[in-house]
Amino acid sequence: MTTIVTFMRIHAVPPSAALSDPGRERRESEPGVPLRCCLRKSLPGEPVWLFRYSPPFGKGPYAEVGPVFTHVDCPAAPSLDRLPVELLNNPRILRSYNAAGQIVDGAVVEPGSFDRTIEELFNDPSIESLQVRSLSHGCFHFGITRA
Ligand SMILES: [Zn+2]
Repeated sequence: MTTIVTFMRIHAVPPSAALSDPGRERRESEPGVPLRCCLRKSLPGEPVWLFRYSPPFGKGPYAEVGPVFTHVDCPAAPSLDRLPVELLNNPRILRSYNAAGQIVDGAVVEPGSFDRTIEELFNDPSIESLQVRSLSHGCFHFGITRA
């Protein structure tokens, strides 16, 4: 099932972002990791970058840096108007940020509840962006803004 949303835009991480981290690691096979470029899990034998990344939504003291994976050469851009269901089959943390990049709220969201929770968060006019993160490790997966 693919969820199409009309009120939000998905923000992925381009593989070129890896080039700004001199400590990036190229891994020839790291199957099953969440790829932030095309927003799916990696397959065996796909070369990937592991690098430090700071999502653009938190600013100032709320800017965070953490590890992300992307393809080295991404074969397909993600759909930016659809929630990437392959990365939403586990509980996730949704953090909301205002226009100044300050965190407003955070919530644990279960699979199947993302659409409703995102819509509820964007009902607050002070919310400008969301970060979707893993529950266990806290790693950034992708961002969401209003369309
Ligand atoms: Zn990719």
